[in-house]
Amino acid sequence: MSISEELHKRRQAAVARGVGSVIPCYVERGGGGTLVDVDGREWIDFAAGIAVTNVGNSAPRVVAAVKEQVERFTHTSFMVAPYESYVAVCEELNGLTPGGFDKRSALFNSGAEAVENAVKIARHATGRPAVVVFDHAYHGRTNLTMALTAKNMPYKHRFGPFAGEVYRVPMSYPLRDGGLTGPAAAARAIDVIEKQVGAENVAAVLIEPIQGEGGFVVPAEGFLPALREWATAAGALLIADEIQTGFCRTGDWFACQHEDVEPDLVTLAKGIAGGLPLAAVTGRADVMDAVHVGGLGGTYGGNPLACAAALAAIETMREEELCAAARRIESVMTARLRQVAARDPRIAEVRGRGAMLAVELVQPDGFTPDPLATAAVSAACHRAGLLTLTCGTYGNVLRFLPPLVIDESTLTRGLDILDAAFAGA
Ligand SMILES: *Cc1c(COP(=O)(O)O)cnc(C)c1O
Repeated sequence: MSISEELHKRRQAAVARGVGSVIPCYVERGGGGTLVDVDGREWIDFAAGIAVTNVGNSAPRVVAAVKEQVERFTHTSFMVAPYESYVAVCEELNGLTPGGFDKRSALFNSGAEAVENAVKIARHATGRPAVVVFDHAYHGRTNLTMALTAKNMPYKHRFGPFAGEVYRVPMSYPLRDGGLTGPAAAARAIDVIEKQVGAENVAAVLIEPIQGEGGFVVPAEGFLPALREWATAAGALLIADEIQTGFCRTGDWFACQHEDVEPDLVTLAKGIAGGLPLAAVTGRADVMDAVHVGGLGGTYGGNPLACAAALAAIETMREEELCAAARRIESVMTARLRQVAARDPRIAEVRGRGAMLAVELVQPDGFTPDPLATAAVSAACHRAGLLTLTCGTYGNVLRFLPPLVIDESTLTRGLDILDAAFAGA
């Protein structure tokens, strides 16, 4: 029995069944673009821990900063005894996120917690109850964020009842909405908001600028700007959930920058701290500061180790120009994915931006989702040592999220495996 198989037996006797894993192999160490498991097998990493290790695993600056911090103090709670790194992270986020206006930030532990707090802040600042979300959206697994998330299985099934005052409207999904233009798709969504919710009841429109778990759905050009314009006119806030798209992933610091959209609030997590758990809400100072003193917080939010890691990760992104690296990954990967798509009719579309790319698989009619083929190609990749993830409302999207520091030969080896998996599966 391999060491991973032994660990798997222990896991089944100790870990709750509801917590799944993509591969059955247990990790021993990780680096720039690869993971090594306990049996010494190397995996090429096209997952980055779900878009978290943008700077790579154990990035040198992150390791040094966390080591230095862990020896000084590990935790005080910023709500009890504050420290500089929390302030410095907020300063960085206020400067990096889109929008030239005065900003404030608050730090939390997970993406879901950031989204929950963004909704709390938006409701408090506007005095309105309703939150508008989109088809295929993913915002987390807590009670409120389950309500905000679209997909039943596995995220919501039998976990209700869910939080109220959440309204779902149609997304711009170019492959599946008959090629509606961005402004036309926005008009369709806005019509639902105005007729079913009422503009004056809307606290916030919450959207992922490129959807993550929902299928790497890139809205048509003009969709986000039209929502921005409507929200401003309606006195509602626009919240961009950049948890998966943020921190150089899409070739910009944040995906909203692609169309110069300035959200009122941004939720951040995943890529923020090189793998340590940290999340944030950053946004307009008047909105953020509407909340009374003591209204926001949490025991661990902005933990000193996570803040040290975030400052080091942000420095790495800046110094190693990881936005440009994401764009280089995009050009290498899309060229290769288009070649595969040209010979494989199951691929209906190659899409995404930067190092957030995906292919959507369909049946021979060219439209019906093919989750079985998607699972088969992904399994073939895993057998050959390439770690890939699937996503999408229909489970028919294979997504690629390599660490932005992956070197070109590792990237190419991964694409060779993917190419062969499509040919063989
Ligand atoms: C992952 C994700 C979340 C939830 O983050 P957690 O840290 O898992 O709670 C929320 N929104 C988006 C867009 C995500 O990708």
